[in-house]
Amino acid sequence: MQTVPEKGANSHQFLDYIQESNIFKKFFDHAPVMMGIVDLEQNEIRHIVDNQTSADFFGVPLKDLPGKRSAELGVPNDRRKFWITQYRISEATSRPVKFEYYHNNKHLSATVNYIGKTEFGNSRFSYIVTDISELKVSQNDLETKVNQRTNELEKQMAQLEAVLESVSDGILVYDNNNQVVLINEAEARICGYSSPEEMKKDLSYFQTIFQICTLDGKILDPALWPVSRIMKGESLKDVQLKAKRIDTGQEWVFSFSGQPVYDSQGHQILSVCISKDITKEARTQNKLLYSEARYRHLFINNPMPMYVYNTTNKRIIDVNESALRFYRYSKEELLGLSVFDISIDGDNKQIKKDGEIAVVEIHERDLLIDGEESKLVLVNDVTHREEVERSLNETVDQLEEALKNVSDYKFALDQASILATTDANGVITYVNDKFCEISQYSRDELIGKNHRVVNSGYHSKEFFRNFWDTIKNGKVWKGEICNKAKDGSIYWVDTVIVPFLDAYGRPYQYVAVRNDVTDRKAYEKALENAVNTRDEFLSIASHELKTPLTSLKLHTQLAIRHQDKPGRISKFLEQTDKQVHRLSVLIDDMLDISRIASGKLSIQKSGVDLVHLLHSVLSRVGNVLRQSGCEIKLTLPESCFGIWDHFRIEQVVTNLLTNAAKYGAGKPVEIDLKVEGEFAVLSIKDYGIGIRFEDRERIFQRFERAISASEVSGLGLGLYISCQIIKMHGGSITVESEPGKGSTFIVCLPL
Ligand code: ADP
Repeated sequence: MQTVPEKGANSHQFLDYIQESNIFKKFFDHAPVMMGIVDLEQNEIRHIVDNQTSADFFGVPLKDLPGKRSAELGVPNDRRKFWITQYRISEATSRPVKFEYYHNNKHLSATVNYIGKTEFGNSRFSYIVTDISELKVSQNDLETKVNQRTNELEKQMAQLEAVLESVSDGILVYDNNNQVVLINEAEARICGYSSPEEMKKDLSYFQTIFQICTLDGKILDPALWPVSRIMKGESLKDVQLKAKRIDTGQEWVFSFSGQPVYDSQGHQILSVCISKDITKEARTQNKLLYSEARYRHLFINNPMPMYVYNTTNKRIIDVNESALRFYRYSKEELLGLSVFDISIDGDNKQIKKDGEIAVVEIHERDLLIDGEESKLVLVNDVTHREEVERSLNETVDQLEEALKNVSDYKFALDQASILATTDANGVITYVNDKFCEISQYSRDELIGKNHRVVNSGYHSKEFFRNFWDTIKNGKVWKGEICNKAKDGSIYWVDTVIVPFLDAYGRPYQYVAVRNDVTDRKAYEKALENAVNTRDEFLSIASHELKTPLTSLKLHTQLAIRHQDKPGRISKFLEQTDKQVHRLSVLIDDMLDISRIASGKLSIQKSGVDLVHLLHSVLSRVGNVLRQSGCEIKLTLPESCFGIWDHFRIEQVVTNLLTNAAKYGAGKPVEIDLKVEGEFAVLSIKDYGIGIRFEDRERIFQRFERAISASEVSGLGLGLYISCQIIKMHGGSITVESEPGKGSTFIVCLPL
């Protein structure tokens, strides 16, 4: 095995190494392209040596290929002739010949090269064939794409050029290097060049040719030229300036617009400037300004000194009255002077006829008078400006003070009241924090809406009609309004609406100042309810008292009439006794009520057996129950002792049993007593009319009834008094009930 020559070996040693190690043969044999040597014998190609890729192509084993002719390898005649031609060309030119051809849908590239003559006089050639199908496909794709893009670009460029040329505005585009890259005919024409090509220069060139100044003649530094500003990233719109060509003296008025163009990374790559020649318009405008009677009038009567001078010879050609007063010359004298006679120190100072000097600010405008360039000058005397400024500052201070006062008042009002303003149509334009707080709406939800947002529906249409009639007629409206907050809750506001009137006396805004009176309203409502309840009670009480009194009167009269019949008298007396009893119960109840109200109801405790107490009550009212048809069922322990007020507990039990008789619909009444822990629990159950759920708490309050007086008579006091008595004992009284099925009153008394 040949060893690789060391570093520093000579070229012969390398050649020997290459030959002996067969490097070329290995490369040849395994190359992925078809390679070989052929001889041309008359009109035939004979293969001498080929590599494996060629053998694969011809479809014969490598060892069989040497000596084979193309015809034997199945190469068609026309192809063979084509190849022979290529070999001959190489032989004739002694240069390699490269050509492409198609075989079996493959795009092949071949190179043939003449080597020399063989010992038999034949010509010998090398050939190499590469498959470039894939390369060609991607190359074609690429070409198609490039062509498409080129076409599109060409089209766009043509369109752009057509557009650029068709616009009358001048278009000038600079690149990053201040170089003009695009310019249209109009721009060249405006700037006084014969073709755009002449203007393809950089910015420094234009700086030597052009002078640009503001409309009132101030020369601009090139750094402030529109193009320089656009190059620094500014966008401009309709900046009016004057331009002058230094070389030709030509002058224009331009309107400049333009903007920078950025690439996808945000770098500015171009600056586009669009200029419009407005010289004519500017002249016409100025001429108009001067000649139009209205402006002439303004000129003559202007309180500021004004004059006009000819730009070329600087002669004053027109003056106004104020100028005559200011300069103290007569008109004739002033018209004979030039601007230099009245100006010193540039334009900053003006000298009057008597030598007095005034510090001024000069404002100039171009005019064209009878074809002559002129300037209209306005003189602003600033000699006494400091004084004026001081007095102005004082006024401003006073105004600010006044404004502060106003805002202080507003602040105070804001803190105290609910404020809102609306426009003439009632659309809300302002609300303060208090308004938002009480209405629960945010400012955004209110501004732009009208007050219907908070309308509770409480007031009638008539109410609001009257309200609007008042304020629309410029009058102040006062009243109380019931509003609805966002969560549906109701609030009352005491309201004053003040219309603000314009010069014609028509309201242009309404200011509403409101105060929350919800609590007062609730108190008033409670008071009203209390009065109503009292009135109702009085009417029921008088009825309740009258009924037994009428009956008493009747039975007493009957007794007197039948004095001689003792049997009948005793019946009448029995009735009389009943009515007296009923009256005394009523009066007792009313007395108890006033005792409770004044805190004078007292409890006298002593040892009481509740079982015994129940029996004693039943002995008195058992009859009443039985007369109502109620059967009494008792479930009692032997005894149940506690320390209670015997009389008052008796009163409670009597009341509950009387109610069971009144509302028990003649059905059985069950009395149940047991001891539960520390308590004696007494329940009185009936199967009568029952009590609706919503009335269950209310019936324990004063004068409250769950049934009308026409159905069952009563004052609505018994349960209230019972409840107070039980509470005074540290116990409780509750009711369980279902309408139509009966009620169970449960009394718990601590043992
Ligand atoms: P009064 O019976 O004089 O109306 P009360 O204070 O004793 O006054 O009772 C208040 C109200 O409670 C009654 O008007 C009635 O509507 C209701 N009530 C009391 N007891 C019963 C009962 N056992 N069944 C149904 N309703 C009752």
